[in-house]
Amino acid sequence: MRIVVTGAAGFLGSHLTDRLLKEGHEVIGIDNLITGSCNNISHLAGNKKFKFIDHDVTDYIFIPGEVDWVLHFASPASPVDYLKLPIKTLKVGSLGAHKTLGLAKEKGAGYLIASSSEVYGDPRQHPQKESYWGHVNAVGPRGVYDEAKRFGEALTMAYNRFHGLDTRIVRIFNTYGPRMRAGDGRVVPSFICQAIEGKPLTVYGDGTQTRSFCYVDDTVEGIYRLMNSDYTGPVNIGNPVEMSINSFARKVLEVTSSDSNTVNRPLPKNDPAVRQPDISLARKILDWEPLVSLHEGLKKTIDFFKQN
Ligand code: UDP
Repeated sequence: MRIVVTGAAGFLGSHLTDRLLKEGHEVIGIDNLITGSCNNISHLAGNKKFKFIDHDVTDYIFIPGEVDWVLHFASPASPVDYLKLPIKTLKVGSLGAHKTLGLAKEKGAGYLIASSSEVYGDPRQHPQKESYWGHVNAVGPRGVYDEAKRFGEALTMAYNRFHGLDTRIVRIFNTYGPRMRAGDGRVVPSFICQAIEGKPLTVYGDGTQTRSFCYVDDTVEGIYRLMNSDYTGPVNIGNPVEMSINSFARKVLEVTSSDSNTVNRPLPKNDPAVRQPDISLARKILDWEPLVSLHEGLKKTIDFFKQN
């Protein structure tokens, strides 16, 4: 198949691109490189099945020829990035979804949108099921990302219902792995770099807030299975193993064999207190669940940061 991936030079987009190429598909990757990096796709130079277009997907997208799928993965994706780029974040989630949906409609292609566990906000239901409507502060600092993702989901469903477009919505929970950007501010690259450099690990708040970390290969497998399914409602993809940020810091110190300590910093506004995916739906319809342990995934990620 001929597949368009937006955000192809990003962390997740580049891993997804690799997987699609491995499956024998042709990929047209689009990215404007504001948070993505050519380093993530440099190994694809000369690959005849891959084409890169440097383009902002909030502007009209022109792709000659047939397209079978459009996968919309472009967006700043870390709280630090989307606070630095609030309007671009809102635009890529809304106008970018509009342009990519328009492209899929024009080409008669399937469409998959990367949504997020952030649509649940600071959740009042735990763990989070797809049926939960969420608890989001639209006007808070994270609202730019959360509401853009929620709008993207609504627009995707509207194209599905009104235009009959074949659509998928994946709600991605915290994913980590090689190619995360060292300075993106997310807890995984921050703690790993701090541990390697012998600096204190910056735990925000008292570190009792929880997250559930999924290794990127597992996430990509779930997304690929969803694309190949016929399920149009939102599907959670994430690892249900939940831990506090304090425990995560201890785990990073253990796997890096670092003698760094931890230091507490103020908790960012509206930082969700808990987050854990309920993946019963993905288990049932995709026969999917994560396979990579945190220990194994962290080792691979730490190797990447050491080499880079
Ligand atoms: N966090 C932290 N120290 C850091 C970066 C993040 O304690 O240096 C915390 C953050 O407050 C949040 C959790 O780790 O509770 C996960 O943050 P991240 O930015 O990775 O993504 P989020 O899950 O909040 O979208």
